[in-house]
Amino acid sequence: MKVALVGAGIAGLSAATALRGHGHDVVVFERARGPGGRAATRRVDGIDMPKAARGATLAFDHGAQYFTVRDPRFQTVVDGWLRDRIVAKWEGRIVSFDSEGGEELTTTTDRYVGIPGMSAIARAMADALEVRYEQRIESLDPLLREFDRVILAVTPEQAKPLVAQIPDLSATLDSVVSQPCWAVLAAFEERVPARFDGAFVHGSPLGWVARNQSKPKREWKVDTWVLHATTTWSLMHLDDDPEVVGSVLMEAFHDLVPTGLPRAFYATAHRWRLASVTPPLAVGAIHHEESRHTLCGDWCLGNRIEDAFLSGLAATL
Ligand SMILES: Cc1cc2nc3c(=O)[nH]c(=O)nc-3n(C[C@H](O)[C@H](O)[C@H](O)COP(=O)(O)OP(=O)(O)OC[C@H]3O[C@@H](n4cnc5c(N)ncnc54)[C@H](O)[C@@H]3O)c2cc1C
Repeated sequence: MKVALVGAGIAGLSAATALRGHGHDVVVFERARGPGGRAATRRVDGIDMPKAARGATLAFDHGAQYFTVRDPRFQTVVDGWLRDRIVAKWEGRIVSFDSEGGEELTTTTDRYVGIPGMSAIARAMADALEVRYEQRIESLDPLLREFDRVILAVTPEQAKPLVAQIPDLSATLDSVVSQPCWAVLAAFEERVPARFDGAFVHGSPLGWVARNQSKPKREWKVDTWVLHATTTWSLMHLDDDPEVVGSVLMEAFHDLVPTGLPRAFYATAHRWRLASVTPPLAVGAIHHEESRHTLCGDWCLGNRIEDAFLSGLAATL
């Protein structure tokens, strides 16, 4: 069977890998220049670095921060990634702040990250596949002429215009809505004197902060941080000026570090317009036999990398 797959995020790559394993011909179409979607790493070049950091590379996992594993099928794959040094355990000190600023250590869960960045996971998966980059699919008709089946592994909002003529699928997609997340990427002149490497935050515009540099195989010369606003705050400030968003979130970060923040020589705000859905659909994937379409993505099962991976598998059944 010839299958066209739209979207080289974790769901699309998981589906494509499984289909190839079953002997099918698969071509993945991705609008971006590289794979990964929201499991991304942003590299920043061409900025003036402080003396101590000359020659260093600035890179931030600005989307997915890490992943966890519950399903044995995903565990088997992750064991292979660990063996091949595509991922490693993140042993950072992760705490949780309550709304009064009280801090406690979170329960121990194995958290994994791509090395040297989250995008390494998708890159390793894509390397074994035929992926055509910078191909934004605007209509499925040409694909349906060339392929036996089309799998859409994109967010609900990105899928909607592509299946607008199929009422069943449109109605299903209307029932799931993606929420935004504002992220700040910051690099500091000196080490931030925080007693944690990652923190879940409550009672603040921030929901999560992480010392990117504390993850394995990251650039050690620069203290880099990623701050994520809560969904509620991000929705309320969706169209705010990124500069203003950046300063409000940096101030909220300052509140978590009582001894104060050193100067940030780089800070930028990134808006993920389609970050996560709540609640998800609670199905593995959606098959529509008549139109030869399948829809998958994290939003079918949850809002995590593991959900994306498992939804991709369900798309191949
Ligand atoms: C801020 C943030 C923090 C997160 N934190 C975590 C975390 O800590 N742990 C965790 O497990 N998960 C986390 N996640 C969620 C995780 O990133 C996702 O669950 C997962 O990456 C989703 O994968 P996906 O393949 O379903 O979708 P996506 O990653 O969105 O992939 C869809 C792909 O389709 C492409 N595409 C879209 N439309 C078209 C088109 N028309 N033509 C061609 N290509 C197209 C896109 O460019 C993209 O590459 C986070 C996400 C965000 C945004």
